[in-house]
Amino acid sequence: MKEVKSPKRPLLYYYCVVLLVVTLFNFLAMPWMSQYRIQEVDYNTFVSMVEAGQVGQAEIQEQDNRILFTAKDGSAVYKTAMVPDTQLTQRLLDAGVSTSGVEIEQASLLVQLLGWIIPLVIFIAIGQFMSRKMMQKMGGGSGSMMFNMGKSNAKVYVQSSEGIKFSDVAGEDEAKENLAEIVDYLHNPGKYQEIGASMPKGILLVGPPGTGKTMLAKAVAGEAGVPFFSMSGSEFVEMFVGMGASKVRDLFKQAKEKAPCIVFIDEIDAIGKKRDGQMGGNDEREQTLNQLLTEMDGFEGNTGVIILAATNRPESLDPALTRPGRFDRRVPVELPDLKGREDILRVHAKKIKIADSVDFNKVARMASGASGAELANIVNEAALRAVRDGRRYATQADLEESIEVVIAGYQKKNAIMTDREKLIVSYHEIGHALVAARQTNSAPVQKITIVPRTSGALGYTMQVEEGNHYLMSKEEIENKIATYTGGRAAEELVFGSITTGASNDIEQATKLARAMITRYGMSDDFGMVAMETVTNQYLGGDASLACSAETQARIDKQVVELVKRQYGKAAAILTENREKLDELARFLYEKETITGEEFMQILNG
Ligand code: ADP
Repeated sequence: MKEVKSPKRPLLYYYCVVLLVVTLFNFLAMPWMSQYRIQEVDYNTFVSMVEAGQVGQAEIQEQDNRILFTAKDGSAVYKTAMVPDTQLTQRLLDAGVSTSGVEIEQASLLVQLLGWIIPLVIFIAIGQFMSRKMMQKMGGGSGSMMFNMGKSNAKVYVQSSEGIKFSDVAGEDEAKENLAEIVDYLHNPGKYQEIGASMPKGILLVGPPGTGKTMLAKAVAGEAGVPFFSMSGSEFVEMFVGMGASKVRDLFKQAKEKAPCIVFIDEIDAIGKKRDGQMGGNDEREQTLNQLLTEMDGFEGNTGVIILAATNRPESLDPALTRPGRFDRRVPVELPDLKGREDILRVHAKKIKIADSVDFNKVARMASGASGAELANIVNEAALRAVRDGRRYATQADLEESIEVVIAGYQKKNAIMTDREKLIVSYHEIGHALVAARQTNSAPVQKITIVPRTSGALGYTMQVEEGNHYLMSKEEIENKIATYTGGRAAEELVFGSITTGASNDIEQATKLARAMITRYGMSDDFGMVAMETVTNQYLGGDASLACSAETQARIDKQVVELVKRQYGKAAAILTENREKLDELARFLYEKETITGEEFMQILNG
């Protein structure tokens, strides 16, 4: 897809135009005007000029007590104060000076007026010109100032050979299937109209960031071969109330002219937030939303304009926007599963030179939880690493290292950890892994390294993909909490002291324990009562408590007890396996890296 843009002139161009106008004015108009500018001279000069025959015309203004006169060749105008002089008339007659000088006054008055008006006109013209250029820059397109601000300035993508197709979007099969229907409709609307079916007007793509929502929307346009208007929700919101609404009107006007076509609004939550009617609400945003709702009602289902919108906060959208007849279809675009990740890696690996021996399945398993955008980044990082090392293609090792780079940051080359710190980190990481392994009897990790990373992590554990399972039992969550506490438990057991290294574990364990009690109904005390609601499903999953202060205190107490119980369990497992713990920690301390297989070998050896 190719974006169409109008060319821009550099600012220097406008400066040159202004300079040219000013120079021309100086050269042409100034000399002519100075001819009529009145110079003041004394009476003696006047008399001597008359006697020398240098005066052309003279006008005696008795009421103003002055004499105006011109040079003989008409090149200048002079004035002088009147002095009582009985011979004045005779002098003028002798010198043959004409005294009917009415035009002198008129001409000089005109020139004086022009001297004021011309520069004023020039400056106003320049000002107008500059401000119009500025507005154009802000609003795009041409026209007068106010009209421009209401233009939608949507980016229009036209069909080109490199258009994105469904095959470029890996995984996301359900989403693609859903959208393929839209493509079919755009190709062949008659089939649908015959039976009386109308297409949904709007389709909402929801999912975490970087899962390919924008890509999918572009792919729909690419497959259907129709124009694609793209605009971000935040671009509608302007400084002035009503401008966003006028942008929406303009966007839909353009779209209807180009129908069939696709309109894509990214981050629609910027304008589509619930209208809550609170004081200090955002009038501009609400008006924009109202206009969008009206526009969506205003066109028939069969005009061929399909609106796609993307958001990662669907719960914050106004219910009026998501009701049937507007965005009536919701397509989830979730984080890719194992197969999806492998496909995404393959799609992006086509763009770089890569060794044939690369095991994409293994890389996909290691990158569990990564989004499409992260996987694209991993492949690119691998290519960059290959270039850094002077190789002509990327290898498996490049990919594996770049997973860690993308997730945990670059290796800190000169981080100095004391031996004791290194030993503590080794025990800490092995503590987690050992508790996990003893609870499930399987390899808990792909790999553990204790090379410090730029993200601040001192050690890094790559978890084993747990397969696609959607339910977790109470025991599994408890085991997970025990695993989180395993690091700290190992430190305490071995060194008898504790460090700050466990802060992230503590956070995670607490979150899980709290969720068990407040959301999953897994406590004996409260049963199936929800104390918490999740507000941001796709962006970290923040939760807000909805219960009395007294209940909160009880919840807190139970959370503490639950985590303590699991800590006790972890400590017991480690005490029981103290020898293995020492052996594994020493291995990690010496080698700095331990793989899942090595770990299991030592454990079962
Ligand atoms: P979103 O709009 O969901 O935040 P994008 O569509 O902008 O995400 O995706 C960002 C980048 O991530 C894309 O340019 C693409 O390189 C990569 N990407 C994401 N998902 C996929 C996928 N399913 N297949 C291939 N590439 C993907």
